[in-house]
Amino acid sequence: MVRSRSPFVALAALALLGTNGAAQSGSPPERAIRRDIPLTSTIRRAFAGGTRDSTGRPGPNYWQLRTDYTISARLDPATSRISGRETVVIHNTSPDSLTRIFLRLDPNIFLGSSPRAASSVPAENTDGMVITKITLNDRAVNLTPAPPPARGGPDPARPVELGAWDLNTTLARIALPTPLNARSTATLEIDWSFKLPGGPGQGHRMTMRWGDTLYQPTQWYPRVAVYDDLRGWDTELYLGPSEFYNNFGRFDVKIDVPAGWIVSGTGVLQNPEEVLTPAARQRLARVLESDDIRTIVGPDEIGPGAATAAGDRLVWHFVADTVNDFAWATAKKYVWQATRATIPGKGPVPVHMVFLPERARFYANAGPITRHALEFYSQLWFPYEFPQLTLQDGPSAGMEYPMVINSNQGAADHETGHQWWPMMVSNNETWYGWMDEGFNQYMNILSAADTRQSPPNLDGLGQSYGRISGTEAEPPMMWNANYAGPMYGFQTYSKTPLMLSMLGGIVGDSAVRRAHAEWGKAWRFKHPSPWDYMFFMSNALKHDLGWFWYYWLFTTESVDGSIQSVSTEGVRTTVVVRQDGQMPSPVVLKVQFVPTGPAIRPMPNAAMLDAVTALVTYPVDVWFSGNRSFTAVLDFGGRPIERISFDPYCRFPDRNPSDNVWPREAAPPAQPQTGGCRG
Ligand SMILES: [Zn+2]
Repeated sequence: MVRSRSPFVALAALALLGTNGAAQSGSPPERAIRRDIPLTSTIRRAFAGGTRDSTGRPGPNYWQLRTDYTISARLDPATSRISGRETVVIHNTSPDSLTRIFLRLDPNIFLGSSPRAASSVPAENTDGMVITKITLNDRAVNLTPAPPPARGGPDPARPVELGAWDLNTTLARIALPTPLNARSTATLEIDWSFKLPGGPGQGHRMTMRWGDTLYQPTQWYPRVAVYDDLRGWDTELYLGPSEFYNNFGRFDVKIDVPAGWIVSGTGVLQNPEEVLTPAARQRLARVLESDDIRTIVGPDEIGPGAATAAGDRLVWHFVADTVNDFAWATAKKYVWQATRATIPGKGPVPVHMVFLPERARFYANAGPITRHALEFYSQLWFPYEFPQLTLQDGPSAGMEYPMVINSNQGAADHETGHQWWPMMVSNNETWYGWMDEGFNQYMNILSAADTRQSPPNLDGLGQSYGRISGTEAEPPMMWNANYAGPMYGFQTYSKTPLMLSMLGGIVGDSAVRRAHAEWGKAWRFKHPSPWDYMFFMSNALKHDLGWFWYYWLFTTESVDGSIQSVSTEGVRTTVVVRQDGQMPSPVVLKVQFVPTGPAIRPMPNAAMLDAVTALVTYPVDVWFSGNRSFTAVLDFGGRPIERISFDPYCRFPDRNPSDNVWPREAAPPAQPQTGGCRG
């Protein structure tokens, strides 16, 4: 979803939390630098099972569940209620026998009794997800089973009942008397209904309709939770802010709405001849011919026989082959426009936009913005794999689903970016929001630069983290984002571009992008963990980056570098660099010489940026002995030095950048904005 347009809104808010730019007083103790990537029991289990390994690629024994859904749903605008019947075929590709199945019933967050984060207030309390029937392999599941024993575990003498517990929460559990064996399938059938909550609500996804004329159903059907090699069943509750973690599978969805209402959704419409007018079908047939914005159903084409085929009600049939969710929207008076994006190596795909006629101004630039995003991100990472993308108007204006974004032009670039994560590369957003929103914020910076036709500039981003690092309010990025609290936005959205700015400062931004793209390709339509990312990137970048991942992802530490002293004796200049933070960094010094004098001789670890400027680099290893001070001896042949700066591209987190320069300058530190760096 979309939050802040700028990663620095959160930073500015953090500055108010009481941190300041003052250097630490007193001398911190010598530091022991941790150089390995911490392994928790979850990733150790995966390594032991061969499902993942330190290459960062899927291991030889990698598996993931597949869940195939067939859903028939009917919308009744008079009651704002969807009634559905679904069949889920669960392919247990795991090596485990499953004795339980967990069901996600997110609409129960609208019951009013479910736990939720303070920032997410439902627009309306409803009766939640009402389940009237469940069968498993044609056997009835008891929806009102006896409660389990309070203590001491199940009674071995009492047979397990095929029953469903906690149906009034967002995470229900079906107990299986006969386990679902490894590498077998089971079929769930569920009858359900729920009322879509109206507005106004606070927080994303808390409002799903405007009156009784526009609906944006999301998290709208009972879905089977993920069972994976890391934690088994994913039993994280849906609390509102944190997003999702879903199985891949096929969706075959039939949506029954009043005739005249346009329906958009995940997948490809299977029956245009039954639901569209001949005119709309003719217009659609030309969408891929050019970048023109074409009107498929105009603002004057309203009702049965004009907006859609004639009749009383129509059933719209969508199929998506491999996706991790399904979302849709419908309105009595949607305008439908379409254009195309040309995916490299693949060809054109349609971009659809459905919006209310009075809100057309919010979609005036949506087509070109979305086209640019699809084409740019396809080049940056790997080609967009889905057959279409649709922008849907409504109360949710910044949320993403496979092939569908609930967005107008404002968030179109960001929400389109989510088609890469989590839609094609299915990260666990609930735990690791930074692998979803954070990666997306990073690529949005690159996309914006491409739109401006200027090179991306990540200078200053990494350094800005030093201003806030160390506050107790900040959870480390590896902390479960579902419980990140008030710093959720910084932890999941804003910090990742700062981290990748520093990484680019070490290995180069283009190398970061290439490695990240390779990682994404390796995990297309799979579920990577953060460790897969860390190991893959270290391998691809051919750097021992354990220390980097440790400090950025598992701590809230920073570098806090400074130039302590500079002295010249003969042709040699001695620079003492100090690091007061716990995070180390390479020592990167920009050395500016006076315009004339003795010839500037080369140094082995230096590169000339121009005739009078050298960049000298010492690897991060210089700190591994534990020292906080490093003495760099510069021998360029005696040309006097005018100015030296540590971290000249402002990539390393620093509490007080003004002491990175020699001689000290009175100028205030650079403002924290993209490209805000005066190294
Ligand atoms: Zn987002």
